[in-house]
Amino acid sequence: MALNFIANQSCNAASGQTLAVLDPSYGEAFDTIPRSAATDLDAAVQAARSAATSTWGKLTAAERGRLLHKLSVAITANGEELWALEQRDCGKPTAQAKADVVALARYFEFYAGSADKLHGQTIPYLDGYSVLTWREPHGVTGHVIPWNYPMQIFGRSVGASLAAGNACVVKPSEDACLSLIRVAQIAAEVGFPAGAINIVCGLGHEVGADLAKHPGIDHISFTGSPHVGTLIAQMAAERHCPVTLELGGKSPQIVFADADLDAALPFLVNAIIQNSGQTCSAGSRVLIERSIYEPLLARLATAFERLRVGPAAMNLDLGPLIRQTQQQRVWDFLSDAQVAGIPMVAQGVVVDDAPESGFYQAPTLLRDVPVNHRIAQEEVFGPVLCALPFADEDDAVTLANATKFGLVAGIWTRDGARQLRMAKRVQAGQVFINNYGAGGGVELPFGGYKSSGHGREKGFEALYGFTTLKTVAIRHG
Ligand code: NAP
Ligand code: MG
Repeated sequence: MALNFIANQSCNAASGQTLAVLDPSYGEAFDTIPRSAATDLDAAVQAARSAATSTWGKLTAAERGRLLHKLSVAITANGEELWALEQRDCGKPTAQAKADVVALARYFEFYAGSADKLHGQTIPYLDGYSVLTWREPHGVTGHVIPWNYPMQIFGRSVGASLAAGNACVVKPSEDACLSLIRVAQIAAEVGFPAGAINIVCGLGHEVGADLAKHPGIDHISFTGSPHVGTLIAQMAAERHCPVTLELGGKSPQIVFADADLDAALPFLVNAIIQNSGQTCSAGSRVLIERSIYEPLLARLATAFERLRVGPAAMNLDLGPLIRQTQQQRVWDFLSDAQVAGIPMVAQGVVVDDAPESGFYQAPTLLRDVPVNHRIAQEEVFGPVLCALPFADEDDAVTLANATKFGLVAGIWTRDGARQLRMAKRVQAGQVFINNYGAGGGVELPFGGYKSSGHGREKGFEALYGFTTLKTVAIRHG
């Protein structure tokens, strides 16, 4: 039985109610988490406030950095346990589960080093004045975390927030709590004071909504669907609480005829199959210059047909989707595409060993997808790649920018001037030229244009979002 972690204590929900924890590889329950309510959240916010104003908040930046570094080292030391938890809870193939632990440790390492390098400025002003700025923590930050990369998203938002001096209240997805509970316990073991990191499990529309409305939360970091992001922003707006939103994408990979296709191919495939397509930055559209459309599609088809899907522990190319409703969501998109006559070019294979009760989906390549069809516009959040041809650079830009999203873009061309022209014209928070994802990129600021959200996480930039700025003007004559 997994428990909440509040003020460095494991505890059940006050009501005693629980929720089942499912293994997506088998569709079977294997544990429970608390179904928390407002009273449990109150306890967490109170613990965080106390840490923010006393213990944690009184540490020097260097001391905070040292503790964050200890946590990074301890995460690596406990890596086996963490990846095994994440694998079972989220259905991640072993390689992905291990990579998520590496990224988690790396986030805490990066933010450990940043804690004592965040500083304000002095500003030239009127004669007889000195003006300076202070970067102050918000106080208590709330973190609503999705199920697709629980450890990575925890690392990037909680790591940065703690480095900036805030105390954190975390509401993980009901589908992915186990690893985060354990990380909070490890933090306590290495010396984090009570209340610095609190984990409250439960349902999104219950305790998640309570968090968004709670007057004791001073900033909210949300990653998830545009729909819930809107709800959270509306609830937070009632009390003018700042919100960082990361709401996914429909990211294009744009391949020009002069590209190095041998180099591009593995990136084009991996960007849509990684984590079974359940990645906000998934490269879910491939835009291909018309003169290489057929040959590149043929190569993609061969690659897709080789892909294998099965239980997470088999460590194949893809594991299961997170749950049955997600599987149904992908089926609905694919059946709409079929009704619209969109040609399917190729599919991977769900292996015979994959149990019927697991939530499997073969990776699927579609071609000639009309730009306005919903499968080319909306986030499927499954392993479905839409191919569209383009005529020239202008056409490529129009197609790339033709969705409501703007998270990431990949540009494949050997022409240096075109690389920069395209990078300027594409609306996306991150643009990758002749690569995609850049090895995880803990250091690289990340966030959306348009409906992909606002605010930036990752890299040093995140620290600005997790602080507020005070300007101090001194008249000394
Ligand atoms: P979601 O509903 O947006 O869930 C994200 C987080 O918000 C979870 O912690 C969820 O908790 C919580 N939540 C849900 N309803 C809430 C509410 N009314 N108030 C406050 N918090 C709430 O996403 P999902 O249902 O898991 O996935 C649906 C779609 O969202 C996916 O198909 C995908 O398109 C998108 N998505 C995007 C990302 C991304 O990284 N951009 C991540 C996940 C999902 P519970 O899980 O406990 O309900
Ligand atoms: Mg689970």
